[in-house]
Amino acid sequence: MAVEGVIDIMAAAPGCMGTLYDGAMRGVHRDAIARYGGLVINKQHKGNEPQFYESLRRGRCTHELWAASGRIAEKVPLVDATAELVPVPIKRLERRGVRTFRWYHVLAIPCRHGVHEHRVGVGTTSRKGERPPGESDEECGFHRAEHLQQIPEFTRTHQLVYPYRSDAESGHAQLDASLWNGRLISYGVEAQQLLTLGFVLAQNSTSRALHEEGAPTLRPTA
Ligand SMILES: [Zn+2]
Repeated sequence: MAVEGVIDIMAAAPGCMGTLYDGAMRGVHRDAIARYGGLVINKQHKGNEPQFYESLRRGRCTHELWAASGRIAEKVPLVDATAELVPVPIKRLERRGVRTFRWYHVLAIPCRHGVHEHRVGVGTTSRKGERPPGESDEECGFHRAEHLQQIPEFTRTHQLVYPYRSDAESGHAQLDASLWNGRLISYGVEAQQLLTLGFVLAQNSTSRALHEEGAPTLRPTA
């Protein structure tokens, strides 16, 4: 229902870039929205374990790439015979396509032989027939949309954008608080829609007025 809702809103609201959601949205849901051209910004599901992705061979070197925490990481051996998955820098996020979309991370893999640029699909899981025979994610058994996110959790962009989700929650709490005993004062879908519209207009007007005034200075509390 949420996926259908997001796609409906995107169709009706040009400029809507996607959705912020909690961990309940998994690969299969992100796939549908990403194919439609939208972004899904959420946290990885807790049980998501790192997966081997590929061994990248460039010239004389090999880089062992894994999918971990929603992005590509390189397995780096340490002196004590253990290894660590070090996230690979993402140079940019790309969207390609016209009616159905594909998303990519352009990676800049650090290396003593010079940085390797490498493009990796993210956000959608390719199906049989969408790639040369035997190469689709479906045939390879790799759930790409589950393991590689458009905007992975531990990135600056995620940290800047994701908090708007809690902002939505506080908006909902304020709607509840603005009504006596948290009860709706209107009967029927149309009247309730009008009430919600009025509330949202009032919220947006207040936000706009505050924004134009400049952010208020927060006084430290004892
Ligand atoms: Zn290299």
